[in-house]
Amino acid sequence: MDLDLDEATLEFRSEVRSWLRSHVRPLSSMDTADGFEEHRAWERSLAAERLSVVSWPAEYGGRDASLLQWLVFEEEYHAAGAPGRVSQNGIFLLAPTLFAFGTDEQRKRLLPAMACADEVWAQAWSEPESGSDLASLRSTAVRVDGGWSLRGQKTWSSRAAFADRAFGLFRTGPEGRHRGLTYLMFSLRAPGVTVHPIRQLGGEPGFAEIFLDDVFVPDCDVLGEVGDGWRVAMSTASSERGLTLRSPGRFCAAASRLVSLYRSRPDPALRERVVDAWIGAQAYRLHTFGALEQPPSGPEVSVTKVFWSELDVAIHETALDLLGEVAPDWRDGWVFSLSGPIYAGTNEIQRNVIAERILGLPR
Ligand SMILES: Cc1cc2nc3c(=O)[nH]c(=O)nc-3n(C[C@H](O)[C@H](O)[C@H](O)COP(=O)(O)OP(=O)(O)OC[C@H]3O[C@@H](n4cnc5c(N)ncnc54)[C@H](O)[C@@H]3O)c2cc1C
Repeated sequence: MDLDLDEATLEFRSEVRSWLRSHVRPLSSMDTADGFEEHRAWERSLAAERLSVVSWPAEYGGRDASLLQWLVFEEEYHAAGAPGRVSQNGIFLLAPTLFAFGTDEQRKRLLPAMACADEVWAQAWSEPESGSDLASLRSTAVRVDGGWSLRGQKTWSSRAAFADRAFGLFRTGPEGRHRGLTYLMFSLRAPGVTVHPIRQLGGEPGFAEIFLDDVFVPDCDVLGEVGDGWRVAMSTASSERGLTLRSPGRFCAAASRLVSLYRSRPDPALRERVVDAWIGAQAYRLHTFGALEQPPSGPEVSVTKVFWSELDVAIHETALDLLGEVAPDWRDGWVFSLSGPIYAGTNEIQRNVIAERILGLPR
């Protein structure tokens, strides 16, 4: 494989690098109301340069950039220490699903507003007693004139307390656990929606419960076919577990910081863990370049998910062991890394998928 970047990609890299160098500044946590709006403003400044969604078609706010250029963008973004993407549920999870299953009307209506953060999306999948076993969900959508009426409760919805819209799965029929589900998009400000913030361990209202009491959703906000929501949702899950949500740039940047930390306070007892972390990040990067022509989908993305989430924990725990304390500049990243094996489908479930669907082991 040729790993040399072409002229256009090198120019793009240097444009992105210099823009980020002059614009990145620390923001408050996006898990607070004020921080969320600061992040929305940051997304708008990216969008003004057409840097918020570089690989999308220009008509929706992108640059028609290749996937390779998107990866390069991500490398520069994380290396610059730029802010977490408050739009990530929309641009990394819903948008690929809209490209695959949406109508032209939905793409024209929803993608430009997503690209410039006029509409920030939340993921409304988990329900009380329905996380790992998502198909057991109980929220319903009942047919009404011109659309659907939603009833039920969602939980653990990241930043739903501040977001504008949400996407989720609803039971629309009795025909079996997976067949009777429909993928719907709704406004978090619609009549009948009540959002209760849930405080995280650190005290910030980063999660929310969403209560739905006869919430009207027009037909134009069904994504994919009625009753086919499971298949559509698995497309979103592929983006969440694969490289769309967690590109290698994030881990390469963290591994480089770890190497710098080691250089500033070497500890031979931890040297191999530092090297392993760096190799892990580089291995993910090379694997990704190899996967660009045909990005993995289906059960293979479970391998990626287990790999990046465990790598993130290893990088951060090695840093803390080097420091001998939970130092502020590594603390938030460490705490967040601990949630990696839980969100996007827990690693226990991903291991079941790998065992049964890739290795063919018995249940
Ligand atoms: C940081 C973070 C952000 C999140 N953001 C969102 C969001 O925006 N939107 C959203 O909808 N959800 C979100 N979630 C929720 C997340 O998707 C769920 O927590 C996750 O799917 C697990 O579901 P659960 O919490 O109900 O655990 P459970 O399903 O109750 O599982 C509990 C434990 O049992 C294990 N387990 C369960 N079944 C099996 C089995 N068959 N075999 C082996 N082990 C099993 C699980 O692996 C886990 O360790 C988020 C979670 C976190 C931590």
